[in-house]
Amino acid sequence: MIYRPFGRTGTELSIVSFGGMRFPEPDKLEASAELVRYAWDRGINYFDTAPLYCDQRSETILGHALKGLPRADFHVGTKCFHASGSELRRSLEQSLELLQLDTIDFFYIWYLLDRDDWHRRLDQGAVAAALQAKEEGLIKNLVCSSHMNGDDLAEVLAGGYFSGVLLGYNAINFPYRQAAVEHAGKQGLGVITMNPLGGGLIPRNPQRFSFLQGHQDQSVVSAALRFNLSHPSITSALVGFTSAGEIDEAVAAVDNFAPYSAAERSGIEKHLNETFNDLCTGCGYCLPCPVNIPIPKFLDAYNQLILSEGDSKTVSDRFRLHWNIDRRLAAECIRCGACEERCTQHLPVIQRLTELAGDSTQATDQNK
Ligand code: SF4
Ligand code: SF4
Repeated sequence: MIYRPFGRTGTELSIVSFGGMRFPEPDKLEASAELVRYAWDRGINYFDTAPLYCDQRSETILGHALKGLPRADFHVGTKCFHASGSELRRSLEQSLELLQLDTIDFFYIWYLLDRDDWHRRLDQGAVAAALQAKEEGLIKNLVCSSHMNGDDLAEVLAGGYFSGVLLGYNAINFPYRQAAVEHAGKQGLGVITMNPLGGGLIPRNPQRFSFLQGHQDQSVVSAALRFNLSHPSITSALVGFTSAGEIDEAVAAVDNFAPYSAAERSGIEKHLNETFNDLCTGCGYCLPCPVNIPIPKFLDAYNQLILSEGDSKTVSDRFRLHWNIDRRLAAECIRCGACEERCTQHLPVIQRLTELAGDSTQATDQNK
């Protein structure tokens, strides 16, 4: 395993880290903990969680799994989305208890949506409460996570409150985040990326993404991780593992890690910019929908439309065999626009739902 410094914190993290949001059976404490310990045995030393992950079981699982391991050698990150200082404090204390820790290594001001949201966290006391907890030693490093676009996020980071940032970054959505990654690097901040495999879209379409692969890549997964980790400002890529096999695959992918050359990377970026910035990454930040449309599932089906170049059977199969949902549900959309405001990819969700509801699977998205 390769380890990289997280900004100027003096902490070194494994370049692949454990995202505790996808335990397949979170009610099974011991089996879930075994997965965490397996990752530890394979050299992973950063474990990321949040109060709501896995039906609120993720922090408990990590606490159970990491208990007894040498404390100085692993690092835990958890999060809080409350704007109020008192609620952040309550949430932090609960996280410490569930994780069975005296201090959180990386505590995130979680899920910054936009500039207004950032100002709410400042005005209502969340940031001040986190800084106070840091003074008291309950938090080692204050960080933030966000799906804001790169420029807005760079502005937040410039405020000097954070030691680093967690952001979605992969071969599909990187243009929206590039400015923040660059800025973080210049400021000496650590960067952890989430969703490096595009919510599974990249491994599910190996042919389509094969252009990412160099001769040293065993698979498109390896290539997608290499794409992330080739950016010199990125410390670690967070993967939501569901099995020991996935851990093995990711560790093998980075075992012989060699970054893309600048020329390779700019060729890939050019190709991606031209062809893939209209895909949904399945991040789910468009939810909730007031009429309960499972938007990421519909947009995933639309991805299939794009990736299959308009093959209606591929799209129908996706609805029927993969998601088991009735595509006519898309017609329930009341066009409130909330999802489009929140969409991390800035996708024309309403238009896509309209196309899918109308069975116009040959239609093309005019905003592509
Ligand atoms: S625009 Fe439609 S899909 Fe989007 S949140 Fe509103 S009702 Fe739901
Ligand atoms: S529509 Fe946008 S916000 Fe929703 S899952 Fe897809 S990329 Fe994420």
